[in-house]
Amino acid sequence: MIIMTQKSLYDDNDRLILEKCTLCPKECRINRFKGGTGYCGIDAGFNIASICVHRGEEPYISGMNGICNIFFAGCNLRCLYCQNHEISRSGSVGRNGKMLLDNVLDQIEEILSKGITSVGFVSPSHVVPQVRVIIRGLNLRGLKPITVYNTNSYDKPEVLRSLSGLIDVYLPDYKYCTPEIASEYSDGYDYPLVALKALKEMYYQKGSALRVNENGIAENGLLIRHLVLPGHVNESKSVLRSIAEELSPDVHLSLMSQYHPTSVVKDNPLLCRSLYNEEYDAVVEMMESLGFRNGWIQDMGSNKNYRPDFSKENPFE
Ligand code: SF4
Repeated sequence: MIIMTQKSLYDDNDRLILEKCTLCPKECRINRFKGGTGYCGIDAGFNIASICVHRGEEPYISGMNGICNIFFAGCNLRCLYCQNHEISRSGSVGRNGKMLLDNVLDQIEEILSKGITSVGFVSPSHVVPQVRVIIRGLNLRGLKPITVYNTNSYDKPEVLRSLSGLIDVYLPDYKYCTPEIASEYSDGYDYPLVALKALKEMYYQKGSALRVNENGIAENGLLIRHLVLPGHVNESKSVLRSIAEELSPDVHLSLMSQYHPTSVVKDNPLLCRSLYNEEYDAVVEMMESLGFRNGWIQDMGSNKNYRPDFSKENPFE
């Protein structure tokens, strides 16, 4: 009975995808209506670790009041250093666990009623059908928030194409250019190729412009994030070069220094420490020399502000 209810929420195409899942490049081909045994560990339901106000995103994303972020459990990558590892690892469904669509919509509606205007879908690549259902459900309630797709970029271009018109702002990571590094740190040898294709699709849909409204909140466009990792300045430089050459130096960029080692990487020879000032400065210099002018750099102290605790009602407060 529950399975039937879930199936009826999805349109025909999403139902077919979820029955033999090829949603993301992992292509597990499992039936997610019969349990989440794919790589991401998540079935066809609403496995959400937290729906909360988040004030720590880039200024144009959070605005003055914050964004209503939906943190999905599970992930289609396994980044060793993930700050959200409590909820992203396979099988962990977080504090909220499995939710009914109405509960999801109620929680979002309550947050939006406090004057927050954007909804962020965090780690959505393995739950795009659920994202579509949530947006449709909000619209049916007369709510049209700014929608932000906050992704690791391990997305198929055709899936992103299906979101055209539904997503207002793409907020993708671009983590690495080198397959060996992607394989070692994120269990995704093909990540560089996949991510670049995904970024090109987002760029095709949005271009370089990031349209900001009168309240200083991005309401349409593309903002690419790159987290500089300790000991990997050259990789970061290659990532920036790739964006400049394959997309444009006019795109908006968020160059992040906030890396903080979790307990999972305490014994890793490179990832066991925070970033050095000179490492970040070298990447910023490269960013400037490539002609990037739009976007943000971070304070070196900001790594203290991004350590969520998903056992709390608001993991960031
Ligand atoms: S979304 Fe999950 S189940 Fe589907 S292909 Fe990707 S990892 Fe596998």
